Amino acid sequence: MTKPPASFSAEPNHDESSDAIDTIVVDGLGLANQLRDEMANEIVSLAAGGHRPPQLTVVLVGDDPASKSYIKGKQRACARIGADSAEHILPSSTTEEELLALLDDLNQDDGVDGILVQLPLPKHISPEKVAEAISPAKDADALHPLNFGRLLLGNAELISCTPLGVMAVLAHHRVPLEGANAVVIGRSNIVGKPISILLQQQNATVTMCHSKTRDLAGICREADVIVAATGVPRMLKGDWIRPGAAVMDVGVTEVDGKLVGDVDFEAAQGIAAIITPSRRGIGPMTITMLLRNTLHAYRTRKGL
Ligand code: NAP
Repeated sequence: MTKPPASFSAEPNHDESSDAIDTIVVDGLGLANQLRDEMANEIVSLAAGGHRPPQLTVVLVGDDPASKSYIKGKQRACARIGADSAEHILPSSTTEEELLALLDDLNQDDGVDGILVQLPLPKHISPEKVAEAISPAKDADALHPLNFGRLLLGNAELISCTPLGVMAVLAHHRVPLEGANAVVIGRSNIVGKPISILLQQQNATVTMCHSKTRDLAGICREADVIVAATGVPRMLKGDWIRPGAAVMDVGVTEVDGKLVGDVDFEAAQGIAAIITPSRRGIGPMTITMLLRNTLHAYRTRKGL
């Protein structure tokens, strides 16, 4: 059972001594750990029934240190829930053909349940071709067109990890979505687009914004829920937030050696009802949803 969340109220909690709202700062790491404990228990039960643990294979092309460190984090997360993991670190000179051949082998390998190709890829490799080369049944970050199409149709089994993480945070804090005005800033395939679809499926009225949107500040001021996924540090100012809104900050950018979100976090305090911090916010939830997708893909393929 997950711990009861700090309660979100459409009528925000006011600090008695002033008009300021008592902003809830989401403990993404805490929620991630609770969900990981639940998955660890599931894997123990599977083992008791004689089933092997699920396995996630991560492929990296090149030697980007940040990507290498993300891969290590994913492997640690797998170990933490009792799942297996494997990595293929290929030189940046790897051709598209070679990468596609490896993916084909992994698709055929019954011991591999989830496949993730770490982005970004070197320029000579097409991310679209790579997404299409991963078996939809093992597509841990759900970028295959079949999984994307199923998401649009409302019957997806595997959904992109970061959007799933955002939705899990909103659900955990019982943020009301039905009829809510939700503004998503950013329209990437991996974050903005899938989040917009998921919010709409929860009956929110969604406005998708991007770099060409006019009067972004005015649109945000009407929002009950804002999801910011641009990678533009602190672009969303405190006075763009309607008092009592829920603010999910997906953006992570390194500025002067510090990780900074898309939202001016300090300025949002006392205005937003709930906000995710740039550290220990959506990041750990994203990795947790990667584990969830791997476990789900495993169960589905094995009929468990
Ligand atoms: P992306 O592919 O670069 O997309 C950025 C989006 O933001 C684009 O749609 C772009 O609009 C829009 N945008 C850029 N500047 C804008 C502005 N000034 N006003 C309004 N919209 C603007 O990025 P992404 O992969 O979606 O990632 C977005 C951020 O989330 C990054 O900081 C990334 O590091 C972070 N992220 C975090 C996690 C996590 O686990 N925490 C996971 C994934 C991504 P156009 O389409 O018009 O160019």
